[in-house]
Amino acid sequence: MSATLTAVTLYNASYEPLGRVSFKHAVLMLFREVAVVHEAAKGPDGTDRMIGPHPWPKAVRLVRYVAMHWMYRPAGYSRDGVFLRDRGRCAYCAAPARTIDHVLPQSRGGGWTWLNTVAACRACNARKGSRTPEEAGMRLLLAPYVPTRAQLAALA
Ligand SMILES: [Zn+2]
Repeated sequence: MSATLTAVTLYNASYEPLGRVSFKHAVLMLFREVAVVHEAAKGPDGTDRMIGPHPWPKAVRLVRYVAMHWMYRPAGYSRDGVFLRDRGRCAYCAAPARTIDHVLPQSRGGGWTWLNTVAACRACNARKGSRTPEEAGMRLLLAPYVPTRAQLAALA
């Protein structure tokens, strides 16, 4: 899917932009009636496609006002979130990343958490194996952090 299909701008009920959400998330919000279409777009085939009763969304707007601080809470952990936070780049060599590396390996108790996982290319992930970066003589180019929803939305 292209970026225009996957990213929909999300507006607050007060018309402030809150960030971007996936196309799927936007459609779910329309069907749950928590959002309405704020700006319509042509469908992927260039026609005025509808999704049920809704025009194809380019931007959606929340029906009820959401206090901004909601966006500044820590984001729930997800693999996709790790790729977003690390900008799709390997934390060891900055090549395009396709895998998730556990800084402290899972085999040694390292968990699926924001602070213990980074995006990594296959080569670095394989080279590191079940060692810590120190043991493998590899240096993290970034320090893993817990992002807020706002930070992830800005990177989406
Ligand atoms: Zn790498």
